Amino acid sequence: MRYIEEKAEDLLNKLRFNKLPIDPELCAKKLNIRVEDSELDDDISGIFVVEGDESYIIYNRFESSVRQRFTIAHELGHFILHKSSGVFVDRKPKALYRNSASTTGEVLKEREANAFAAALLMPKSLIDKEIKKITDTEEIVDKLADLFVVSKSAMSFRLSNLGYEFW
Ligand SMILES: [Zn+2]
Repeated sequence: MRYIEEKAEDLLNKLRFNKLPIDPELCAKKLNIRVEDSELDDDISGIFVVEGDESYIIYNRFESSVRQRFTIAHELGHFILHKSSGVFVDRKPKALYRNSASTTGEVLKEREANAFAAALLMPKSLIDKEIKKITDTEEIVDKLADLFVVSKSAMSFRLSNLGYEFW
């Protein structure tokens, strides 16, 4: 998914976002996307809607801030990659797999949006820079997760996708 990395990098460069942590909500606002929290059902993390010229992101008020950041970044991925497609309702993984109505195309779009979110919140250039500063390899995931304000599992997944495998 190299082109997704490029899309995320282009956006960060365009907005001149180069300091940690990346703020996905500010990112959305700069793209004129409304961002709101709401009391969504507890199996829904976020919703992305395009209505004519207007786009908005709704995220679940009850989830952790780390989760909310990832959700907003994921919905931004739908905006950048799949804008013409309309409405996305993002359920938690369990619910997604239970829903057999999901077509292969939908699953692909979700994977793309996740890849975009990871690339946006954990840019390769910043990972490469920060990882060099950590001497204790046992602490790498924890320290980077704190620094980038993402979950440890998201960071761990990102590092292995970038080819870092030393624990
Ligand atoms: Zn989605």
